[in-house]
Amino acid sequence: MIPLCVPNLAENEKKYLDECVDSTFVSSVGPFVGQFEREIAKAAGVPYAMATSAGTTALHIALVACGVKRDDLVIIPSYTFIATANAVAHCGAQPLLVDMERSSWTMDVSLLEEELGKNTEIRNEQVIYCPTGQRIAAIMPVYTLGNVAKMDILSGLAQQYGLPVIADAAAAIGATDRGRPIGELATATVFSFNGNKTITSGGGGAVVSADQALSERIRHLLSTARIGTEYTHDMVGYNYRMTNIAAAVGLAQIEQLDKFVAKKREIRSFYNDAFKDSEKCELFPDQDGESVCWFSGILLESETAVRHLCKVLAAHEIEARTFWKPMHLQPPYKDCMRTGMDCCENLWSRVLTLPCSTGITYEELEKVCAAVKEGMKVL
Ligand SMILES: *Cc1c(COP(=O)(O)O)cnc(C)c1O
Repeated sequence: MIPLCVPNLAENEKKYLDECVDSTFVSSVGPFVGQFEREIAKAAGVPYAMATSAGTTALHIALVACGVKRDDLVIIPSYTFIATANAVAHCGAQPLLVDMERSSWTMDVSLLEEELGKNTEIRNEQVIYCPTGQRIAAIMPVYTLGNVAKMDILSGLAQQYGLPVIADAAAAIGATDRGRPIGELATATVFSFNGNKTITSGGGGAVVSADQALSERIRHLLSTARIGTEYTHDMVGYNYRMTNIAAAVGLAQIEQLDKFVAKKREIRSFYNDAFKDSEKCELFPDQDGESVCWFSGILLESETAVRHLCKVLAAHEIEARTFWKPMHLQPPYKDCMRTGMDCCENLWSRVLTLPCSTGITYEELEKVCAAVKEGMKVL
């Protein structure tokens, strides 16, 4: 079986886990959390990193720390994994959904600009969304597949409206923006270390930021808002810390980040070379070597073609899958306020993701391409 995307745990993972058990530091105290955080901050190019129990909890705590409250609106792209929208809902707030752009599959910043210009007004220094009277509290772009959104334009708009930007960079650790690491592009940036991401800690996440006060607030909130070592807590906090066990795996993984990202990019090039001349598909969006190419695959002509190829590949013991379904088509978010959705409605069901584990071999990649080509003959 060639799986879609599985962890690659061949280096120090076992050794560091043994150290956890031998030292009894298996929970939220222990040296690996701090070490992992320093490496995450370095990879993001910012001074602060706070490790969490998941990407979702990192998104939630970043929103809370940036002041998102009940009944606020948070602007997110409709084309994302549901955790982005769930983090907003966990604050008691609602997503305001914006379509994606075709070239990078990230939030369409011209639609964002139009929406802010057309439907908001400033009252008491707050951005009010006129159709509902709600406050807009933040913008949360998503770095789809490891592609950075158009952050210069997006940050310009955020600044103009006085809104914090929390970037959902769940699968984008290692990506760059015109040569620079991505941590400084937003008020706070969130990574996930779930099992299917480029590097994993089993389960986990992190918030990174260049803002010291914000980072201290996040660190305080995610460890039950405790003051000192006794049982005094000065606000309603969260138990969102990463454990030393998870950080042990995460540290062993981040030591290999450059190697893993290079492999993800090679996998992308391999598929692009194999399918660039095909009339039956298009390629995934690229960003001149700056994307970390988290998932790779092809864009087919129809959903039927995707289902057909999944079946053909399954018969060859190759795992291939559809990708994200937009938020405005999900039962919990179908009534959210939104822009037009022409781009994501045209695109989402035509996406086919192909095997892209960092441990995949060239023989396996060849086998996948041959099976895809066989399946395409009857499209
Ligand atoms: C994986 C992912 C998340 C969620 O991360 P978890 O660690 O699974 O909670 C959030 N947003 C996006 C875009 C993701 O790909």
